[in-house]
Amino acid sequence: MPILEEPIKETLHLRNYIDGEWADSKGEPNDVTNPATGKLIARVPVSTEDEFEKAVNAAKGAFYDWRRTPPLARARCFFRLKELLEENFEELSRIQTMEHGKTIDESRGETRRGIEMVEVASGIPSLMMGYNLEDIASGIDEYLIRQPLGVFGIIAPFNFPFMVPLWFAPYAIAAGNCVIIKPSPHVPLSQTKIAELVDESGFPPGVWNVVHGGEAIASCMMENRDIKGICFVGSTPVGKEIYRKCGETGKRVIAQCGAKNFLLVMPDADLEKTIAACMTSFYGNAGQRCLSGANLVIVGEGLNKQEFDAFYEKVVNAFIDSASKIKVGYGLDDSVHMGPVQNKQRKEKILGFIQKGIDEGAKLRLDGRNVRLVEDLPDTCFLNPTVFTDVTPDMTIAREEIFGPVANIIKTDRFDDAVEIIHSNPYGNASCIFTGSGKWAREFQYRVECGNIGINIGIAAPMAFFPFSGMKDSFFGTLHGQGQEAIRFFTESKVVIQRWF
Ligand code: NAD
Repeated sequence: MPILEEPIKETLHLRNYIDGEWADSKGEPNDVTNPATGKLIARVPVSTEDEFEKAVNAAKGAFYDWRRTPPLARARCFFRLKELLEENFEELSRIQTMEHGKTIDESRGETRRGIEMVEVASGIPSLMMGYNLEDIASGIDEYLIRQPLGVFGIIAPFNFPFMVPLWFAPYAIAAGNCVIIKPSPHVPLSQTKIAELVDESGFPPGVWNVVHGGEAIASCMMENRDIKGICFVGSTPVGKEIYRKCGETGKRVIAQCGAKNFLLVMPDADLEKTIAACMTSFYGNAGQRCLSGANLVIVGEGLNKQEFDAFYEKVVNAFIDSASKIKVGYGLDDSVHMGPVQNKQRKEKILGFIQKGIDEGAKLRLDGRNVRLVEDLPDTCFLNPTVFTDVTPDMTIAREEIFGPVANIIKTDRFDDAVEIIHSNPYGNASCIFTGSGKWAREFQYRVECGNIGINIGIAAPMAFFPFSGMKDSFFGTLHGQGQEAIRFFTESKVVIQRWF
């Protein structure tokens, strides 16, 4: 298949977007490389503290007028932004593939999901309404209004460079706040491109800002007294630290963190559909999704030993057979099913986990270290799908987040034991069950301690009008990103009691 045209033709020198202006940074630039081709595509600055302060002042300055702008007028900026995102849909998607490595279909899916956030946030006049009750006492009425708070910081991970900041920014801004987005330094291009479109959409200067950088800029966000709240998405150790620091400085916080997701296959599951869903779940985005399948638990509930052994072999063989057919290559080749992991260090980390699995006694049934690509490309960041069987829940590969295309298969007799296995893991982001039985599906959704539950679904991704949930070590905070909960996070409730003279 021909490779689709690359939208980035020469190395870009990225700038910050502050107060409606593009500003060069005095900070040191770092390289951004296309993980599939190894080519340099951009240089991104590590912005300075002063530059960050400028963004905070701009956002603070813009807040006074923006919160007084009628909700419908604020929504109109989002209508225009939505149009521009649609007009640039393909370019935005190809940029994601170039900076991240995911396939063009996965990028198009990400663009669509991001646009949906803008669409939902455009409903702000209804989303932000309060409520009232008359005659709470004789001649006295009481009502609740929601007010924006000021400036919010958004700290983004590398794995969804376009969509994740949009879990927050549209809701925050539609509600009358101003934001500063710090993209992941590994994938800074998508947010830069969005800011170009924001610039054309009619948002007043200072409402939507983008400042590039890493840990130091994130720390500035935490310490700055003018930032009212932080939305963080990333790994659990960093998220825990951010949650603690925000507690100390009295900021609101949403910290959506790491994951280790279990997929259960019951004997009454539709095997063909289950395996197809598993391929997307375990190997989509090269396993770099907080909703990716990590551990496949094959359950023998109701089967005798012989039947269970036969069922187990059937699932394992079908899984390995499908995984071995996944075509790996450059995501801009439409025929490719899986791209590279995002950078060389990530690949090294995943290789370390694979070795650990072997050392701890799991059986490596499909070895993704034998890299086979559909094109002639440097194999620096590529891996093929990997499958381990004979995995036990206490093994490192079953417990820790690998964040790569590695599937661990666990065998257990009973549904109750499978639930125990899920609960023995510290994460609680997503769990899925494949079954034809309403009873097991109901039991699963009722008992499993995870924020996102899939029933005959491999990736339990909530739509823009539902909260993106998470439990245990996968989430720190009270309210979640997306939809109505995000509006509550980005607003303060004020209760007014009025006596009519
Ligand atoms: P990461 O924690 O390394 O980085 C996330 C962001 O935090 C980046 O912008 C980074 O620059 C910044 N950062 C890094 N160290 C910091 C520090 N000490 N203090 C403050 N900020 C710091 O995560 P990542 O590798 O970019 O992303 C992958 C992780 O994100 C995985 O664990 C994945 O499960 C998780 N994730 C979770 C969700 C969810 O909704 N639960 C969604 C997507 C990704």
